[in-house]
Formats: sequence, C-alpha cells, structure tokens
Amino acid sequence: QAKEKGRNTYQFFTEDMNFAVLERLTIESGLRQALDHGAFVLEFQPQYDIATHRLVGLEALIRWQHPEWGRVPPSRFIPIAEDSGLIVLIGEWVIHEACRQNVYRQSLGFEKVPVAVNIASPQFIQRFEDVVERVLSETGMEPQYLELELTEGIVMQGESSIQKRLHKLKDMGVKLAIDDFGTGYSSLSYLKRFPIDRLKIDQSFVRDIIDDQDDLAITRAVISLGHSLRLLVIAEGVETEQQLAFLREVGCDQAQGFYFSPPLSIKALGDWFFQNSKAS
Ligand code: C2E
Ligand code: MG
Ligand code: MG
Ligand code: MG
Repeated sequence: QAKEKGRNTYQFFTEDMNFAVLERLTIESGLRQALDHGAFVLEFQPQYDIATHRLVGLEALIRWQHPEWGRVPPSRFIPIAEDSGLIVLIGEWVIHEACRQNVYRQSLGFEKVPVAVNIASPQFIQRFEDVVERVLSETGMEPQYLELELTEGIVMQGESSIQKRLHKLKDMGVKLAIDDFGTGYSSLSYLKRFPIDRLKIDQSFVRDIIDDQDDLAITRAVISLGHSLRLLVIAEGVETEQQLAFLREVGCDQAQGFYFSPPLSIKALGDWFFQNSKAS
C-alpha cells in the first residue's frame, strides 16, 4: 500500500514537475561541482589581421567536461550560470586561467597577443575592475594583453556607473571589445561615451554575407561606423575563403573562425603554430 502510494506520488511528481526547471537545477548543481573539481578548461581561437595574415589575438572560450554527460556546450550552461549568479565565480576563474595561459604562452617565446575573455553582464558587479587588477597582478600579465568582450546588454544597462568602470579598466590599460555587435540594443550612443577598442561583427551577419544583400549591407555599415569612430572591426564565424574575400573587399580589419582554426587548447595551438612555422 505504502509502496503503491510512493510510486504514485513519484509519478505524479515527475509528470507535473517542469522538466526545464529540473534540468536547470541539475545543471546548476553540476556547475558548483565543476568549480570545486576543476572540470572547466579553456580553448583559444586565433584571430587574424585580414591584410597581413598576422595573428592579432586569441579568444578564450570555456569548455565543461562533465564525467557523465560529456562535453556541455556554453550555450547550455552559461545562461544558467548567469541566472544563478555562479557566473561571477566561473568568470573569475576564466579571467585568471586565460591570463595564466597567455603568460605561459608568451614565456615559451610565442608572439605576444592579447587574450580576449567573454564577460557576462552579472559579472559586471561592483568592483569588477578590482577582480581584473588582482588577476593581472597574480598572473603577472601586462594589461594590454587582456581584452574584455562585453555585450551590448552590459554597456546599455548601467549608464554612468558602467561608464566610470569602463574608463577605469581602460586607464589600467585593458582593451575593450563589443561582442556580437548588431544583435543587441539599437542605441549606438554608447559607442561615443565608452572607451571601446574593437567591434566584433556577429557571425549571424557573416554567415550569409555572400548571398544575402541585407547581411552584406549591415556588415558594410558596421565596418564604416567602426572606422569612423577609429575602432578596429573583427568578423567572427568566418568559415570560407569566399566569406573572407568579401570581408577583405569591404575593408574589415580582422577575422576569426573555422576557416582559420577552431578553438584549441593552448598546447594544441602551440603545436599548430610550430608545424606552420616549420612549413613556411
Ligand atoms: P561568442 O563569444 O560569440 O563566441 C563565438 C562562438 O562561435 C564560440 O562558440 C566559437 O566556438 C564559435 N565559432 C568560432 N568560429 C566559428 C565558425 O567559423 N563558425 C561557427 N558556426 N561558429 C564558430 P562557443 O565556444 O560554443 O561559445 C558560445 C558562446 O558562449 C560565446 O559566444 C559566448 O557568448 C559564450 N561563452 C563562451 N565562453 C565563455 C566564457 O568563458 N564566459 C562567458 N561569460 N561566456 C562564454
Ligand atoms: Mg566572444
Ligand atoms: Mg561573438
Ligand atoms: Mg556570437
């Protein structure tokens, strides 16, 4: 009887419980464990100058290797980390690890380029600049080799306090970029007020640049806007030679994407550069 009832209760519970909520809770507790057990790693994707083909930067991208679920993509867990506030701790780990590995890479004699780190808006809490300052001093990285990739959502939300904070970071020597540019808020006035160095054209515009007139028009407009504000413009998600040719044609400065390289571990990147330098 009791067993019967227990089973019924259980069934009632699973049927009624919102599956999405359960999944979120499971991922959230998984994230806490991952932080404790060092289950996160970073991969780095190279960024190139389109005209000279020189390496100009590396973007750090987080990877979560779960013991049972395997590799969980950032699109599955970053939003949950943001909602739960865990992104603050995870994000601090990312900045620290990205700087540590960039310093390590430089110590091996590779060319010095900035590492770009994605910053979620809840990370931009009070005294975020103190976190950055501490990480720079702990890892011994020079500030000009750290770039923070901000979303339009971050720069739009806080007005003057955000503005002050960004200027503080800029004064420290850190670089600032706007990620996924063109997908967020339409107000462009922040570009004037905030000390931004670089715009990243979202990959959704790059994808169909060959046969979608509108995407090409938007890409052209972003490049022209960026250049008139003296910003560098980088295209993300470049997958083909043809897309690269279009971007070169319309004057885009830099590019990043599978055409050049997928995100790789710092070790694999080193091997890759070594192979290439031997070949040339
Ligand atoms: P994002 O910052 O715009 O990063 C670019 C994404 O495009 C990455 O996906 C990258 O692997 C992927 N990508 C690179 N080249 C190509 C290409 O040629 N074609 C296509 N289709 N995709 C390409 P990933 O690593 O899955 O990351 C997705 C998003 O998750 C990132 O978008 C970023 O918003 C977020 N993210 C990743 N790592 C972190 C992190 O450490 N902190 C925070 N806050 N967010 C992160
Ligand atoms: Mg990014
Ligand atoms: Mg992006
Ligand atoms: Mg994107």
